[in-house]
Amino acid sequence: MKFSQYHFVDEIKDNLELMGFKKPTDIQYKCIPNILRGEDLLAIAQTGTGKTAAFAIPILHILQTRSHTKRPDGIKCLVMVPTRELALQIHEVFVSIGRNTRVTSYAVYGGVEQGPQIAKLERGIDVLIATPGRMFDLVNQGYIRLGRTDILILDEADHMLDLGFLKDIKDVIRFLPKKHQTLFFSATIDEEIKDLAYSLVKNPVRIQVSPKDPVSKNVDHSVMFVKMDDKRFFLERLVKENPDAKILVFVRTRVRCERVHAAMERVGITSLHMHGSKEQKERLAVLNEFRKGNVRLLIATDVSARGIDIADVDFVVNYDLPEYAETYVHRVGRTGRGTKRGIAYSFCDESEKSLLSAIEEYIGKKVKVLSVEQDDYKEVVDLSGGKTMDLKQILEELAPVQNKRYGVKKGKPRK
Ligand code: ADP
Ligand code: MG
Repeated sequence: MKFSQYHFVDEIKDNLELMGFKKPTDIQYKCIPNILRGEDLLAIAQTGTGKTAAFAIPILHILQTRSHTKRPDGIKCLVMVPTRELALQIHEVFVSIGRNTRVTSYAVYGGVEQGPQIAKLERGIDVLIATPGRMFDLVNQGYIRLGRTDILILDEADHMLDLGFLKDIKDVIRFLPKKHQTLFFSATIDEEIKDLAYSLVKNPVRIQVSPKDPVSKNVDHSVMFVKMDDKRFFLERLVKENPDAKILVFVRTRVRCERVHAAMERVGITSLHMHGSKEQKERLAVLNEFRKGNVRLLIATDVSARGIDIADVDFVVNYDLPEYAETYVHRVGRTGRGTKRGIAYSFCDESEKSLLSAIEEYIGKKVKVLSVEQDDYKEVVDLSGGKTMDLKQILEELAPVQNKRYGVKKGKPRK
């Protein structure tokens, strides 16, 4: 079924067409009718499957068609999200799909002045996207009134629980009118999420898309066995062989992030980099640069990368294997988004093999191995533009990883 065949208001249909959305993804196809009927929902689908539009489209339609005169003032729909980046991103989706409608949306989050946010809220907002901390600050000061908010959406419910927002989620209910619609969206499902969902709503409809293989079928992912100190040569080769590709590289730590960035610089490759010690503003600027494609290589730690949608990432590189198997799924899910296809490579050192096994156990299958012939391996290393690096630099780069074996961490990544 195409979007043009749905009974959405014309503005929404026009916007979807402009955005190049022709037909709904699986999760959108399944969720939209239930949401339009006002049902509570627990929706689970892998990352990159279009969950944002799965709620944004029907919500915009509902709000646009609510009768003019009876539209009470105040926030009608609250979307709670775990991170600021995600708040902004969802706001953008509401803006794009809701262009030329009467529905207004706005994102509030911490880490910035609250003055401008208050000014904007005072002018009246229909859809508020918010991180819990700042939202409760503004609720307590009386700037956010939720008494008329009859739609509550929890996006990335799994990540919200990981970050310890359980109490906040439960608290928000107290401010909402008794009768309201609740929608949970999550990439993964476990007992904790089920408990949460069933504790907040009586009978949510449960919709799940391809639960068996958590990696989207649009992502071709494989592993290469590469020595820790040779990883940079392989990254260099990938970048040089794919000069027009957008490449997102994940590293384990902030220090490694800085180092890989520097190593690329030395061989004449410009890259962006992002990690947790960077100011929020700087992180958003970096994401923007990458999104626009001015610089096509981004080296990042896992921090704030989750849930982030960057269009057209061609390759995801796990420069270091993630310590939590679940993180693997989120990382490779940064490519192959929506209806596109993507490629992910993992560079696995001998010391990381246990991490690879944990990932394979988590996703329930083996990761395809890309074997590199010895000659080819040697060539990648020999042809590097970085062979002239002095010994001191090389030693510095290797120092922290020597003799370290990385242990598998149990449970969920917490940040
Ligand atoms: P998720 O929340 O499931 O991780 P997102 O909502 O961030 O996924 O969407 C992932 C990408 O898919 C976005 O770039 C979005 O623009 C694209 N997308 C979503 N729905 C469609 C569609 N129906 N057709 C084409 N692309 C889509
Ligand atoms: Mg999402």
